[in-house]
Amino acid sequence: MCFRKPVMFALMYHEDYNKYDLGVDHPLIGNKPRKTMDFFKEKGLLDLVDVFSPKKATEKDLLRVHEKQYVDHVKQLSKTGGWLASDTPAPVGIYEYARLAAGGSILAGEKLFDGYKCTVNPLGGFHHASKGHSSGFCFFNDIAVVIEYLREKQKLDRFAIIDLDVHHGNGTQDIYAADPTVLNISFHQDGRTLYPGTGALDMIGRDEGEGYTVNLPLPPGTATGSYVMAFDELVPPLIDQFKPEVIIYQCGVDTHHSDPLANLKLTYQAYYHLAVKVQQISCKTCDKLLVLFGGGYQSDTCVKSYHNVMCGLLGKKEYFKEEEIPDLEIDIYKDPYGSQIEDIVYELKQKLKPYWQL
Ligand SMILES: [Zn+2]
Repeated sequence: MCFRKPVMFALMYHEDYNKYDLGVDHPLIGNKPRKTMDFFKEKGLLDLVDVFSPKKATEKDLLRVHEKQYVDHVKQLSKTGGWLASDTPAPVGIYEYARLAAGGSILAGEKLFDGYKCTVNPLGGFHHASKGHSSGFCFFNDIAVVIEYLREKQKLDRFAIIDLDVHHGNGTQDIYAADPTVLNISFHQDGRTLYPGTGALDMIGRDEGEGYTVNLPLPPGTATGSYVMAFDELVPPLIDQFKPEVIIYQCGVDTHHSDPLANLKLTYQAYYHLAVKVQQISCKTCDKLLVLFGGGYQSDTCVKSYHNVMCGLLGKKEYFKEEEIPDLEIDIYKDPYGSQIEDIVYELKQKLKPYWQL
């Protein structure tokens, strides 16, 4: 068991994070970062971490990942307002706020080389943005932006992504599918039942990157016990063998049973247990964990879920529980989807066997 000392924990925040707001009728609510910070303060979590204010990512930072034409398109939309995609309005000023979000992830990455062992960017994890197009409320893929920043500045070449957002990270996959230096593990609701429709089990990367993309599509209704079982079966052995230099944890909480956009059934306690596990994997391997809060569209649920992520990362023993739902249902056969998920995990392991010991 190994937990971070609070002094080694850094959180990025800027008041302008709350201006990343896609409109009153849009599920992405602009004030989520402020609500989250207020809640952390009320619960005493901010006493345990150092808070840093990020700068905007530069155009050069964006261009390590995105095509110039795409960056120019976002810049232009930001002047006039408009639509990046049918689900993604582009409000005036979004170029600045999306760069600030990416700058938060860059600063969180830098702090890992400045004595901090775990760093958090609450406005991060925009995994639907690809090199030259995007949708799903994302403008710039800050996961790839920080990876490419660290690759250049810190001369790193082994990055692991653990993306537990309910949506498949199709943008990140597009960027890294052929790249063996990035192990990209995504758990998500089956794409046949949810946006963006991708992330099938047999997509395991291509060319030199074959085996380095790992997709676990989960049926609607998947609950905490089965989810955690699948995590234990796949994530620790893969990360152990890959030996990353940095781990990026996209901990989207739109997997919660009350989330309005998706249909998984995770509980508050799931976020605690998963964060504890990710922290342990980090301690055991590279001891550098960058956490991005990702999606979550039921505001009150989100702040409690993120609180539980923080408690898990910080090694606190107290966290929110939903009393009517068992803390961690170890017996997955009580879960109506338990045996189906076991079969999916088995099938994925068979696909990955040529590349990994599982
Ligand atoms: Zn999501």
